[in-house]
Amino acid sequence: MTNTQILPGATIGIIGGGQLGRMMAIAARRLGYGIIGLDPDDTGPLAQVADFHIAAGYDDLAAAEQLANSCDIITLEFENIPAETLAHLESRITVAPGPEVLATCRHRLTEKTFLNDNGFPVTQFAAARSEDELRTAIETIGLPVIVKTVEFGYDGKGQVRIDDIESITAAWQQLGDVLCIVEKVVTFEREASVICQRNADGDISVFPTFENDHRNHILDITRMPARLPAITRKAARELAHNIAEKLQVIGTICVELFISESPNGRTLIVNELAPRPHNSGHITIDACVTCQFEQHIRAICNLPFGDTTPTRGGGAMVNLLSDEWENGEPHWAGALASHGDVKLHLYGKAEAKVGRKMGHINCSAADPDAAARSAIAARLALQDRPE
Ligand code: ADP
Ligand code: MG
Repeated sequence: MTNTQILPGATIGIIGGGQLGRMMAIAARRLGYGIIGLDPDDTGPLAQVADFHIAAGYDDLAAAEQLANSCDIITLEFENIPAETLAHLESRITVAPGPEVLATCRHRLTEKTFLNDNGFPVTQFAAARSEDELRTAIETIGLPVIVKTVEFGYDGKGQVRIDDIESITAAWQQLGDVLCIVEKVVTFEREASVICQRNADGDISVFPTFENDHRNHILDITRMPARLPAITRKAARELAHNIAEKLQVIGTICVELFISESPNGRTLIVNELAPRPHNSGHITIDACVTCQFEQHIRAICNLPFGDTTPTRGGGAMVNLLSDEWENGEPHWAGALASHGDVKLHLYGKAEAKVGRKMGHINCSAADPDAAARSAIAARLALQDRPE
């Protein structure tokens, strides 16, 4: 049986007004949907491209009501929507992904427990509600560990690595004496991610495996496909497919992975899940037949999926953080001139606040390394300002 489809011409509500919302909106617009955003800032990345924007907090139930009354379906760009708002919306309109998926993914302990209970590979972990429990967990797991607050962490925020017994007290205080997950440190060769979409009919689409390099815990470079044996890339995609199926997600799920080398080949360990389009998938905009944002819109509207294969041999994305602005406006024309395949994406953020993701550069080429060289050269050219 085919579930209801939400066809072009309908209106999609997006909660969260940053770059992910903006890129979802651009893809949805291309398909002919209307867009209404909900976010406190009415000048942000999404508001600039939406048909209409509701400037309100995520806990404002009257604003949620207004959104529910003015669109046909609601999606979101981040998982930390207050439970009360979600419940209010759910009683009126379809929210995709749904509340169960968001509840699983917004809480690191619930998420790792879900993965572990369903036989998906994760690192050894335990809960800690106090410094004593942290010590007990470390006795069981062994050092080194990474301790993460269970909620609201991103880009390495709310995380401390502990290498020796002496630093436990300071680490626990730094984390703020709140419920944490204690994880055994994984020694990995590479970090990878796989982005999947699933629609209400249960169809699943999987993008190629991405390889991710981080700098200061923030994604820096993504290469597509990951420089791993084909058998490992296939295993990663199958793993992500199975997670999407088990979660019954409607929309997008990004599976972040650690890839380790072992005598018997490579081992895959799931790091975390994100129930939304993901920074590592931005390369798909310019280097795949269908991009992650269009695929997300197709998923929530229960439409058939597009082809996810790369249009050339490979692609690479480099993030543009606010430090590119440190010495003034970057030299855009120079970056664009550096290579004909350079695609510049800026999110329209007014202020280059420290550590902020301002945009990215995509490049496609015959292979992921060639693409990465061009993308990195373009980013360097941003600093080569004319006299
Ligand atoms: P965030 O929500 O900030 O992305 P993650 O759990 O993905 O949080 O952690 C950020 C980064 O920290 C990871 O991409 C990885 O580089 C490192 N990291 C996190 N957990 C572990 C672990 N258990 N072992 C080794 N490295 C880890
Ligand atoms: Mg992460």
